[in-house]
Amino acid sequence: MNIKAIICDIEGTTTSISFVKDTLFKYAYFNCEKFINDNFKEQEIQSIVENLCVEARNDKNEIAESDNVNEYAHNIARYVQQLIDQDRKVSSLKLLQGKIWKYAFESKLVTGHLFEDVLRNFQKWTANGIKIYIYSSGSVEAQKLLFKYSISGDLSAYITDYFDTNVGHKQEPKSYENILNQISFEGKHVLFLSDIPNELFAADHAGIQTLLLRRPNNYEISEDDKSRLSIVDNFDEIKLK
Ligand SMILES: [Mg+2]
Repeated sequence: MNIKAIICDIEGTTTSISFVKDTLFKYAYFNCEKFINDNFKEQEIQSIVENLCVEARNDKNEIAESDNVNEYAHNIARYVQQLIDQDRKVSSLKLLQGKIWKYAFESKLVTGHLFEDVLRNFQKWTANGIKIYIYSSGSVEAQKLLFKYSISGDLSAYITDYFDTNVGHKQEPKSYENILNQISFEGKHVLFLSDIPNELFAADHAGIQTLLLRRPNNYEISEDDKSRLSIVDNFDEIKLK
């Protein structure tokens, strides 16, 4: 294939889907009240709270203010949990989750899950002069934390750059063209690894090579998609020559 760069998805590719869903998101959900309470005086938290209050007012869902910080933090957290339950894409919510995760990773309360073949293949690819990039819908900040504080240690040194939905949606060919422009490799020398067929088809449209990862507990793949894709169960099975 003469691959010079590999772009990796995270959820379902380097990392179990359940880690992202059950560990990361649930951590932020259940710890937001304590986090807001503990950090209430910080400028960044104050501005996130202000934006959440504006958002709530727009939702006709006033957050009850209180002079008692515990009580106010409780009311804010209830609204934050509602936003998460409704799967709302609100930037102040994303910012708050990012802050909670940063604290959790740095305090070793959360450790990023990686499948056991990830580290040795990152080492092998890097030793062979292949550049490694990450492209995930989670924020670049959260991606960096996951690889820096992972169960396999700090993998940051192996990763050249990270991309999130600021380059576009993962199922849009244009996003992959944007990444190619930024990394300065031709699509034919780039391999994209993901668990989602529509992401791979979008990358293929942009001229990138693709492989589907079939990790334990990934989503079911249709027979039609299976017939159109090359599939591996782990990174050890990836043949680059
Ligand atoms: Mg994925």
